Amino acid sequence: DVVTMDKIVALCKRRGFVFPASEIYGGIANTYDYGHYGVLLKNNVKAEWWRAMLQDRDDIVALDSAIIQHPRVWQSSGHLAGFSDPLVQCLGKCKKRYRLDHLQEAAVEAGEDPALVRCPTCGGELSEPREFNLMFKTQIGTVEDTASTVYLRPETAQGIFVDFKQVLAISRKKPPFGIAQIGKSFRNEITPGNFIFRTLEFEQMEMEFFVPPAESTEWYEHWKQARFDWYTELGVRESHLRLRPHEDDELSHYSSRTADVEYLFPIGWSELEGVADRGDFDLSAHAAGAKTKIEVFDEASGERYVPHVIEPAAGCDRATLAFLVDAYDEETLEGGDVRTVLRLHPRLAPVKVAVFPLVKKDGQPELAKEVRDSLRRVGQTDYDEAGAIGKRYRRQDEIGTPWCVTVDHQSLEDRTVTVRDRDSLEQVRVAIDDLPSLFAGRLAERW
Ligand code: ATP
Repeated sequence: DVVTMDKIVALCKRRGFVFPASEIYGGIANTYDYGHYGVLLKNNVKAEWWRAMLQDRDDIVALDSAIIQHPRVWQSSGHLAGFSDPLVQCLGKCKKRYRLDHLQEAAVEAGEDPALVRCPTCGGELSEPREFNLMFKTQIGTVEDTASTVYLRPETAQGIFVDFKQVLAISRKKPPFGIAQIGKSFRNEITPGNFIFRTLEFEQMEMEFFVPPAESTEWYEHWKQARFDWYTELGVRESHLRLRPHEDDELSHYSSRTADVEYLFPIGWSELEGVADRGDFDLSAHAAGAKTKIEVFDEASGERYVPHVIEPAAGCDRATLAFLVDAYDEETLEGGDVRTVLRLHPRLAPVKVAVFPLVKKDGQPELAKEVRDSLRRVGQTDYDEAGAIGKRYRRQDEIGTPWCVTVDHQSLEDRTVTVRDRDSLEQVRVAIDDLPSLFAGRLAERW
């Protein structure tokens, strides 16, 4: 494979997809900003997730809950007590801190004994592990006392469980049905820094699917497959994706079974998304914690029950990274030139169509701008008239633009333009008036 994490980081910085946050102050660990094309790409990832959850189905509703919840939410959910990672510190020269489980995973991946891990930076010995809660703490109001302590959510899921009764009452849905949410989560991660793979703040795309207990196996199987297919339908190579069931000792405090959708990142096979059977753990915990009943009435049996939950929990930033890595290609062209191209699925591509005048005169820029305006409703467009046409094509290749439209001398005579395909490099002549329906059709197609 040609792709390395360094190349992705360099491309992201060069083209303004993603770059380190607060960089003029030297940056801040594991924190990144998204620039123009990064925002467009990540928005498309989220739109495709919403499409799969809402537009393509009838049994899921949307929610956007608060980042700061009542502190007792985290007591009931188990995050105050259980959401910690074993941390070790290097006793050698560098004194760096690491998550023990990450070091052990890396050792297993490299075929080494996880019991014998040493500091990956300086080779020093490591301290005994210490538990460390991953939640960021802050306080409400001006007085710093424990009564005002609140937490930034470490997952979006709890907002869904806490609102379950409310949504059940107004959505006119009954299990099996789901509640979906996208939003920022925060974790005080100690990590060796694999770009946007693991950051302090990140966006999650989580859906809690509430089912009658007897149907949980069926829905667990359904969601594992559906979530795997989401990635392949958006162009990720099947050979770089796998579903890996968790071993018993890997399971979270809330789950009886979990499978990860894993992607073959340049750092090795790593979790993209988890699909977990959370049982009735969360609803029962909040019912007990809030001293309320959280139940569903089953008309067939005339009984009340607590639904079980199947949860696909994905990371938007991590998915974006996987799409970038999978799309990255360096192609040697006839004549020996190498072009960098992102072979992104057209629906994910930040820019759908770029429009160029071949030369900056003879009325070509005016006609090209008219063409560009006719395509604004189809999707995001770019207009570029600066520099050699070959360079302009390369710039669009690097950000994954599937189609480039060029206005030339002939266009002014017969109102046709050339459409260049990013992947095949073929150019075809198309009437200007046919462009909107052509591109709208291509974007709606299955790829
Ligand atoms: P990991 O062990 O890889 O940090 P996790 O198993 O703790 O992840 P979950 O709690 O299952 O992760 O969260 C669901 C998804 O949210 C993950 O699959 C991942 O895509 C994303 N995610 C979790 N933590 C982070 C983070 N710190 N940065 C970016 N994405 C994250």
